[in-house]
Amino acid sequence: MTGGMLTIGMLGGMSWESSAEYYRLANTVVRERLGGLHSAKIVLHSVDFAEIERMQVEDRWDDAGKALAEAAARVQAGGADFLLLCTNTMHKVFDQVQAAVDIPMIHLGDTTAAAIKQAGLTTVGLLGTGFTMDQPFYRERLESHGLRVLLPSMQDRATVHRIIYDELCLGIVRDESRRAYQDVIARFEGAEGIILGCTEIELLITQTDVPLPVFPTTRLHVEAAVDRAVG
Ligand code: GLU
Repeated sequence: MTGGMLTIGMLGGMSWESSAEYYRLANTVVRERLGGLHSAKIVLHSVDFAEIERMQVEDRWDDAGKALAEAAARVQAGGADFLLLCTNTMHKVFDQVQAAVDIPMIHLGDTTAAAIKQAGLTTVGLLGTGFTMDQPFYRERLESHGLRVLLPSMQDRATVHRIIYDELCLGIVRDESRRAYQDVIARFEGAEGIILGCTEIELLITQTDVPLPVFPTTRLHVEAAVDRAVG
């Protein structure tokens, strides 16, 4: 079976703290599924996040899309059979990246929506970067699957965003920040579940920290990838 295992392409480094988790989880899930010394076949291209983050704050999304399209072509040239863009935020330029390669990409919004629907839920709270929460690209992808997406207040969004960029992307995990996230989650009215819609959030918050079902986007993305890779 592993002779036929597909090679997972990963476009990471946004930040590398979560890409390390993608790498670890993909190998863990393949070992769980196939046993023994089996591990995932992976081609990972990791960017310098400072360059990408600068383009985000300067609103140069087209330039960021071009940089990621180039990186995606390298992943394809490295032998990947399909590609994961290992960040929710940069799904803003998903179409631009997909257009640059022949291999298919697995959209994080689609894997997340599938998990929520499988759990029988329709109304979910979304946590992510300010870009992911404020702009329509991610929410609308979820809504296209029939979900209702709730957002935190502007003040709570600022807190969630700040903790991602000032702490989690730097590998800093603080109890105080976990409590801040728990408070934000408690303020969602009518949410049946919570999307951890930034690939670093699950480094801070896990299911045991939250009374509602959580949807960790990194793990869900990886599980979809391994499903595809091992068939
Ligand atoms: N990893 C994060 C996400 O999933 C944020 C970093 C980025 O802006 O790419 O959105």
